[in-house]
Amino acid sequence: MARRPHLLLSLLTASALIAGACSRGDDASEGAQTPQEPTPTTVASDATTTSTTEATTTTLQRLAPGPGGDEVGDPLFAGLGNSGYDALSYDITLNLTGEELRATTVVVLEPTVPLNEFNLDLVGMEVDRVTVNSQAANFTRTGRELVITPAANIPLGTRATVTVEYRGTPTTIEDPSGPIDLGWHTESWGTFVASEPLGGATWFPSNDHPSDKATFRITVTVPAGQVAAGPGVLIDRQDTSEASTFVWQMSDPMATYLASVVTGDFAISTSSGPDAVTIRNVLPTDDAARLLPALSSTNEMLEEFSRIFGPYPFESYGVVAIPQPLTFALENQTLSLFDTQFLTLRRRTVENVLAHELAHQWFGNHVSPAEWDEIWLNEGFASWADHYWTELDGGTTFEERAERARPLNLRPPTEVTPATMFDATVYLRGALTLEALRRTIGDGNFFQLLQAWSDTYGGSSATTEDLLDLIREREGAEAAAVVRAWAFDDIMPELPPRLG
Ligand SMILES: [Zn+2]
Repeated sequence: MARRPHLLLSLLTASALIAGACSRGDDASEGAQTPQEPTPTTVASDATTTSTTEATTTTLQRLAPGPGGDEVGDPLFAGLGNSGYDALSYDITLNLTGEELRATTVVVLEPTVPLNEFNLDLVGMEVDRVTVNSQAANFTRTGRELVITPAANIPLGTRATVTVEYRGTPTTIEDPSGPIDLGWHTESWGTFVASEPLGGATWFPSNDHPSDKATFRITVTVPAGQVAAGPGVLIDRQDTSEASTFVWQMSDPMATYLASVVTGDFAISTSSGPDAVTIRNVLPTDDAARLLPALSSTNEMLEEFSRIFGPYPFESYGVVAIPQPLTFALENQTLSLFDTQFLTLRRRTVENVLAHELAHQWFGNHVSPAEWDEIWLNEGFASWADHYWTELDGGTTFEERAERARPLNLRPPTEVTPATMFDATVYLRGALTLEALRRTIGDGNFFQLLQAWSDTYGGSSATTEDLLDLIREREGAEAAAVVRAWAFDDIMPELPPRLG
């Protein structure tokens, strides 16, 4: 995600704000905060809201005893995700032709303990029917938990197919880290999804945590004349005089927060990218010809990032730009979310954020954070990449960014709360952490290390300790110590001189 600093909302124009979101060296004052312990956000029992009050004042409603747990134990977000199983795939069918959304989600899961009860996360919506392995199952709703009791136990070593039929108007939930609401948005022009970190559950039942990734098929039926775009590859489209149905297949693992759909009057423009990656950009039909040139650097970025990060991890990539101002851009998997106004800003500003969201496809999407307090593994890496791209283009250098960061007393990027997980510390000091490593081991070794990171943890999730182990293995204890100091020390170290 590239997000504008909240504190500056009323002071700057929208264009300057978005420009600043990824060029945190220009406006990183928000990150000048005193060190503090992470404060867990308790996901409230009210299905449509999320409380940011401390865990001590809001008690999570516990469920009746059952072997499937109601959370994964995330250090920032109590109540998020579930335990007791591993979700393997989601097959989501959405019908948007009526007054309300009618939907079916089929989850294939593998138990990690024998299950006689388990949970999916689902916010709002009316659940009509649940089956497990084609047998009707009992279910109850408790806050964002859909608690399912199958007719027969699910033993270890088997897979279960869970089908949830539901309907309603999806409601967004409050974002504990910023001013925007999360999840499925219904607008006058259509719909879009912006879920990071906990909005996935607003439109499909899931194990809503990045530690449990799965493949996806998303089938969307919209009224005739509209388009539905989703992650991965369009594998089928059926048109009638009244409706169109689009089937999108994401064959590589995806975290629930990165799953997205956008519907409305859009044109999908498809082309070939490097290494057989399919490029498809989704732009408002009336504005597509004007906006498409702003995305012309995508192939060049893909080539450069593939060279230094390793092969692009997915079958497709592209941008969707919606006709409504956003305060951020978001790296939804293979279909980064922008707004049309942003694409009309000056070239370097646009490319900086395009580079950021593209880099997230490796860092955040392919390698995901095992817990949300590891968010710097997403944002520090993507910010390093957009700083790198800008420097290549003759823009702000890493030295200049380090100089601007110095007086801000940025806390360690591993020290975050729900309110600070997207602030300048995570982006700017996170990026400088990687630049310090690059200067310690040299470009060749650094790029190989990034490729090893992607090779080792791609398709899965990872932690800062995993990164430190990899650095220690490949580059030795001294290089790992450099990164540890940047990631954990209260005082930000000095940026080493550039090698050679
Ligand atoms: Zn980002």
